[in-house]
Amino acid sequence: MTTPVVGDQALVLSGHPLQRCGGWALTLLAGRDDAGSVSAADIEDVAERVIDDVVAAATAAKDSPTYDWWKVLFALYPNSKPTHAKRPRESAVLRESVAELFAPDDPRSPLLPCTFCSRWCGTLWSKSVLPMFESIRALNTLPPGVAGWPICRACRVALWALPYAAWVTAGSATVLTCDDPAVERDFAMKNVQRSGRIRQLGFVSLPAGRGPEAVVLQALREHAGDAGGATTLWAFKNDNQEPWLHTASTRLGVARFLRAVRANPDCHRGWAMLKKMMRRRDGSGALVLDGSTAAARLLFDREGHQGERLPAKLMELARDPDALFQHTLLDWRALCRLYLEVMYDMETARLRPAASLLADWIAKEGTRGRFNEFRQAVTSPYNLSKLLMTASARLFLDGGKQEPVNHQFAQLCTDGPQGWRVRGQLYFDVMAELINRGVQVGKPGSEELSEADDADQRPGTDDDEDGYA
Ligand SMILES: [Zn+2]
Repeated sequence: MTTPVVGDQALVLSGHPLQRCGGWALTLLAGRDDAGSVSAADIEDVAERVIDDVVAAATAAKDSPTYDWWKVLFALYPNSKPTHAKRPRESAVLRESVAELFAPDDPRSPLLPCTFCSRWCGTLWSKSVLPMFESIRALNTLPPGVAGWPICRACRVALWALPYAAWVTAGSATVLTCDDPAVERDFAMKNVQRSGRIRQLGFVSLPAGRGPEAVVLQALREHAGDAGGATTLWAFKNDNQEPWLHTASTRLGVARFLRAVRANPDCHRGWAMLKKMMRRRDGSGALVLDGSTAAARLLFDREGHQGERLPAKLMELARDPDALFQHTLLDWRALCRLYLEVMYDMETARLRPAASLLADWIAKEGTRGRFNEFRQAVTSPYNLSKLLMTASARLFLDGGKQEPVNHQFAQLCTDGPQGWRVRGQLYFDVMAELINRGVQVGKPGSEELSEADDADQRPGTDDDEDGYA
């Protein structure tokens, strides 16, 4: 059993991602900066506000924007009184049953430590009022003989304040945990503003194609310390058939990488171009995925997948270099290189001999044949190894200065994520060498970028996309 909390701090942020997000919501709704300064009176006030909003949503007409907040509540607490299909429609009646949820403990109840923060408390909650507990199998079984989860009053209010600080959709909620509280706070604050908009104007009022990943990157860029920045996004989808929990994480160093991108004009332009190319619209021209979100996702590792998604995506988008401007190829080379240097401490200069050898070999033939051969081979460790042998032997026989190589490029020819990263960089390095030598790769010139394309990288600006605030 955990040790019960002693002391009079009204609210404690636990390690549980949902309680933690709810704790941030409670803190921010109370106008406080940190959980430690939340008072008992603050909890009272926030509980009143939550009750008002729940009752307004649960008694709203189905076609009103306020009803969208009910959909959010339904996704989180599908079997609670205010989300039940047979709930009372008179505000005063419903209010009474909602208010009961947050009432002070009955002094006669036996005391138990709170499930989340270990404070002594006397109220047991069933899973029907706990967010997502219906759908998260791992959390929804109680030990035999236990009538419910003991939850203290602060945590009860926090668990229903949760949707204010989570990234919510009509059927899911996403919360953030980060090793740096300033990043969590910023993410929660943005969501408090966003959820206010949903309650007033409904989901239609939100910019299309936005996801939480772009908001997290912005928070990291602006608020994380250089040493920190490891985040996890926990996305919950509540569905009677197939509920899920997905996690996606950024690694340490990502905040440093984002700031380095902003400080380097080539990388900055490269990132803006990436956003532009990843933006998706449907047949009618409506935005379905904004570029900031799509590009941000490349820096998140999904559960069970080791991501090398940024170098891999850049390589994929540059598969046909002639469809791109030379400037973009050079910018992406800089971006890829910065990523490897910051995130993996890799000395990218080590690739110079291989890039120069391949560029010599490609440039010696006037046609595109050799470049295309390289382009095919670079995706496979085996084929690239063969090509390096062939190229160095050919240059040697032709009287060039190269010695035949057989061990120097071992790193390029390994399988797995490291091999991918290194070969991605080599691909861009070779193209840069060719461009420098005047070999025609990519379109001459550079592409115009709109202000929206690089909006999220200027300090203090909001991450707007297509004019959305
Ligand atoms: Zn508690």
